[in-house]
Amino acid sequence: MLTIYNTLTRKKEEFKPIREGRVSMYVCGPTVYNYFHIGNGRSFIMADIIRRYFIYKGYDVKYVMNITDVDDRIINQAIAEKIDSSQVAAEYTEAFFEDLKKLGVMDADVHPKATEHMQEIIDIIKKLVKNGYAYNVSGNVFYDVAKFSSYGKLSGKKLDELEAGARVDVNEEKKDPLDFALWKKAKEGEPFWESPWGKGRPGWHIECSAMSCKHLGETFDIHAGGNDLIFPHHENEIAQSEAATQKKFVNYWLHFGFLNINNEKMSKSLGNFFTARDVVKHFPAEVIRLFFSQTHYAGPLNFSTELLESARKGQEKIQNLYDRLKSEIAAAAVPGEDFETDDYKKRFDEAMDDDFNTPQAAAVIFDFVKYANSYFASHPSPGNKFFEASLDFLNSTAVNVLGVINPEIKTMEYPTIENELIELLIQVRLDARKEKNFAMSDKIRDGLKELGIILQDSKDKTTYKRI
Ligand code: AMP
Ligand code: ZN
Repeated sequence: MLTIYNTLTRKKEEFKPIREGRVSMYVCGPTVYNYFHIGNGRSFIMADIIRRYFIYKGYDVKYVMNITDVDDRIINQAIAEKIDSSQVAAEYTEAFFEDLKKLGVMDADVHPKATEHMQEIIDIIKKLVKNGYAYNVSGNVFYDVAKFSSYGKLSGKKLDELEAGARVDVNEEKKDPLDFALWKKAKEGEPFWESPWGKGRPGWHIECSAMSCKHLGETFDIHAGGNDLIFPHHENEIAQSEAATQKKFVNYWLHFGFLNINNEKMSKSLGNFFTARDVVKHFPAEVIRLFFSQTHYAGPLNFSTELLESARKGQEKIQNLYDRLKSEIAAAAVPGEDFETDDYKKRFDEAMDDDFNTPQAAAVIFDFVKYANSYFASHPSPGNKFFEASLDFLNSTAVNVLGVINPEIKTMEYPTIENELIELLIQVRLDARKEKNFAMSDKIRDGLKELGIILQDSKDKTTYKRI
């Protein structure tokens, strides 16, 4: 039984899809005004792992991640770069796709853009105005929060407490400080669209209500995003969508914990961030994904290069086994004895079924690495069944779900200082051999062997592998 912690009910619940065998999932995507940071990357990667797990379970998943390509921040960036705001959005949308790919994140089935859904956005606002949930004040349209009786149900906030906090945000035009903009009247020089209320642009919250409804229907299974989106973004999405359709908007609300630096949220505004594209220059995607997997998606996680370095060591252990299995499978001459992986698969499934417990699932992978390595140690030439079962297990879990193994790149190609030092020693040994200094050459080979690094000489080069 697959369970998910639902922010809406504050409980772990059994996952029951609306349509048998199918999952509809919407994840709030980026506002494309800059490169995204590795904190955003954590949310995108954990959402990707969850999506991949549903696929692993045999579900037909429709996964939608929007792109907010009209927003104050984009307009400000355009002013700073002295270019058009649509150019800023286009540039960083492209960068967003490139960076997701670098992190090993699968493309969404649909990446809807706000600017391409103006009609749908205007239609919902029209409906809300017609049904008395929204009002127009000279070209600005606001949502009338007091009309939606269950406002606050997602965040657990009470209306009167919110009222007290919101008084600072007084706006002459709003009936109530809690009311929020659905449509903003265009200011001089800003991008705008025609609407029944005049030239303007949509508010951020209504974009997600319109795009999720268009691509997943009025009610869908899962809506996800970072913790910072619970209030007001997701609370407002519920208010808009449920008022417009009179139906339940989303069955399961799932929220990701923050990636912190020194216990403070990584964010653009605090300036304490690393872009994802910079981090992948130093750490392969598989290492970053293992690092994130080792903490539950909902909890906070501190970012540091020391922690990433230790994830790198762990990832190399998994990758080394995988590389060894792949490189030696062809030489397995006999079928050999059966090799059972069912127990590991069962444990992996149990971990992931329990609200996507990736730390536990990663621990199962490490247990399996130990198990397979000890099998290698006690079986000098294992049979084919061992290789096939092990590769099957690792491919379906560590490659396809967690994405912590690169099925192509060899560990030794990663540009780590350790690998570079090994290459340097190999070079020194080759020089020693040229000078017929065999004592030195043997000393290097034996020394590396003691460290678990085996040199393999072929006609024109020396390679190495780890045991
Ligand atoms: P934004 O582009 O700011 O709208 O953020 C895109 C996604 O990243 C949203 O789901 C945010 O909740 C999430 N996010 C932002 N900062 C962090 C962080 N430090 N850790 C984890 N997720 C974050
Ligand atoms: Zn959203």
